[in-house]
Amino acid sequence: MASLLNSSIEYIKGVGTARADLLKTELGIFSFIQLLQHYPIRYVDKTKFHRIADLQTPPDQAVQLRGILRRIDSHGEGRKRRLVGVFRDETGLLELVWFKGLHWVQKNLELGKEYIVFGKISAFNNRLSIVHPEIEPLNAQKKERASSLEPVYSSTDKLRGRRLDSKGLMRIQQNLFRKIHPQRSQIRETLPAYLLEKYHFPERYPAFLFIHFPRNQKQLQIARNRFKFEELFFMQLRLLRSKKKRQLGIQGFRFPEIGAYFNQFYKNNLAFELTGAQKRVLKEIRANMGTGQQMNRLLQGDVGSGKTIVAFMCMLMALDNSFQAALMAPTEILAQQHLESLGEMAEGLDLRIELLTGSVKGKKREAILEELKEGHIHILVGTHALIEDTVQFKRLGLVVIDEQHRFGVAQRARLWTKSELPPHVLVMTATPIPRTLAMTVYGDLDVSVIDEMPPGRLPVTTLHRYETHRLRVFGLIREQIEKGHQAYIVYPLIEESEYEGLEDVNNLFEGFEAISRDFPAPTYQISIVHGRQKPEDKDFEMQRFVKGETQIMVATTVIEVGVNVPNATVMLIENAERFGLAQLHQLRGRVGRGGGESYCILMTGYKLSKGGKQRMQAMTSSTDGFKISEFDLQLRGPGNIEGTQQSGLLALKLTDLAQDGAILREARKVAQEIIDDDPKLEKPIHDCLREELQRQHKKYGWGRIS
Ligand code: ADP
Ligand code: MG
Repeated sequence: MASLLNSSIEYIKGVGTARADLLKTELGIFSFIQLLQHYPIRYVDKTKFHRIADLQTPPDQAVQLRGILRRIDSHGEGRKRRLVGVFRDETGLLELVWFKGLHWVQKNLELGKEYIVFGKISAFNNRLSIVHPEIEPLNAQKKERASSLEPVYSSTDKLRGRRLDSKGLMRIQQNLFRKIHPQRSQIRETLPAYLLEKYHFPERYPAFLFIHFPRNQKQLQIARNRFKFEELFFMQLRLLRSKKKRQLGIQGFRFPEIGAYFNQFYKNNLAFELTGAQKRVLKEIRANMGTGQQMNRLLQGDVGSGKTIVAFMCMLMALDNSFQAALMAPTEILAQQHLESLGEMAEGLDLRIELLTGSVKGKKREAILEELKEGHIHILVGTHALIEDTVQFKRLGLVVIDEQHRFGVAQRARLWTKSELPPHVLVMTATPIPRTLAMTVYGDLDVSVIDEMPPGRLPVTTLHRYETHRLRVFGLIREQIEKGHQAYIVYPLIEESEYEGLEDVNNLFEGFEAISRDFPAPTYQISIVHGRQKPEDKDFEMQRFVKGETQIMVATTVIEVGVNVPNATVMLIENAERFGLAQLHQLRGRVGRGGGESYCILMTGYKLSKGGKQRMQAMTSSTDGFKISEFDLQLRGPGNIEGTQQSGLLALKLTDLAQDGAILREARKVAQEIIDDDPKLEKPIHDCLREELQRQHKKYGWGRIS
């Protein structure tokens, strides 16, 4: 049965075929419901009138005035002709100016009559004026929408060409309401009655009416709350349902054993006491892998919180149950480092760890592939080369994905095809993301959080410095090197360079030369690492730094993630304003790993954008990655946070995740209760939920991405 709200917009008065086509191509609006969900972007408060006397410093926003049109004069000739009206209220007068539509003005406006005028004030030569005001006779307006907030809609040039500007769209919305009003009882509720009651939400029809044509702020508020809740609630319902489905449906390997590998490592190789958070997370993961359900878990933890060792111990659990494990990193350097640190951790354990990246070629590659298939290799570390079809495991039981946001969800899914049952998946994030985002972007995953740093770490002292401080900054580096420590100096990548990134290399090379002058050989040795190097060269330079043969590492952001040199105590970031917060925090995480005092110095020019200033402030005010990610969300909005692009955020039209965390938590709680009680949404009372999910599924094609 075609429902009322699915009717085509052509049936609305004022929308013929041509306009309907435009609305489809320009705004993707086909049906009544889609038009209704083209919510106003803001509202103009027409409940208040300003007094001309109060406008000496004109406000930024448009104002509404009530007064009498005294006279209209014509100035200029031909194309320069304009009309200037004098408009006055009890407190003063201002000018109304028209350059266009002169004929209409002269024909329709009457002198001496009372009008309501609306527009933006400009002050020119001590005179106040409004250019091209909205103007209506007082009476007409009073009747139409006394005490109302007028909606403002987003539109496009093409639509405006068809007189579908904000006002035009408003008229069409009004016509739509006139049309559906008599049939409003047919409009199906999307939320069960008990939820409407619980939250005192208006029903669907009045909620639409209130959000488009609110009589007052209160109506607007309750309507917005309902729709925000609805957006978040259905998103959570979808995520939690698919999570439940997986838990109930998708079988996973069961790892009942804690065996020789794990125990030996725990007894002999573990050089320190695990933090409470690490222990807790290990327990969560162990329980998860012991149930026979497939694990899909996100491991969140700040840089340096010790995720790697947790991941390694999970791999040992897989090995103890005669499975293989894989660790996937976003870059070759990181994969290499992981190989080395796993190698160290595995000392004396009699297990084989191999590396597979794009640069492992020929015979070597063939041998690895062969032995992997035979099951002789226990752990394979690599880049995305791991998910190529030629890579076949004998029995892959666990995949750890480091620095998740670089990999798409699709890649995550591809790993599954490599064994008869999908392996357990543990995704480690490089940078913590705010809880609200984790709940939306990764809402179908289980989440473990390491929220405690290993003991003895001092927070990294973070300083914001300008070019004029350079000598002193170099002094600090020298001092640290004299104490036997090492320093990073990082340059930004200029991605949108005309020369395909040549510029950033130049930037780096210039910096390198300058630094070589200030830190001359043979006293100082400098490594240089950047994205255009051959992997062998990169590796060679990295290794020199890791081994302590060089004291300074000059690099682009290739060192951003994961690189671990505990002896390094200074991170100097050049042009720090060009980096995002997440990146800055990541870079800072490269130091402060050795237990001593460490420094992160953010160098910028004096001229900083507002955003740049805010980022520097955020960095100097906190070293907590979760806090930094909250700042980032507040400053940039959820769409720009790394890793969120492919997610369900596009369904959020009203919700602002930076502001609406409380609604999100409530929506998730309720969705969870419903899924626990009725996992397949089979109860008649939940018919409405199933239908709405289906509608959204069709619209957004969730099936393809989750
Ligand atoms: P990240 O979470 O950023 O991946 P790592 O796993 O690289 O962090 O750990 C950072 C450093 O902290 C490593 O040198 C690691 O050996 C060390 N480390 C990890 N856990 C502990 C702990 N419980 N106590 C002391 N040091 C630890
Ligand atoms: Mg790491």
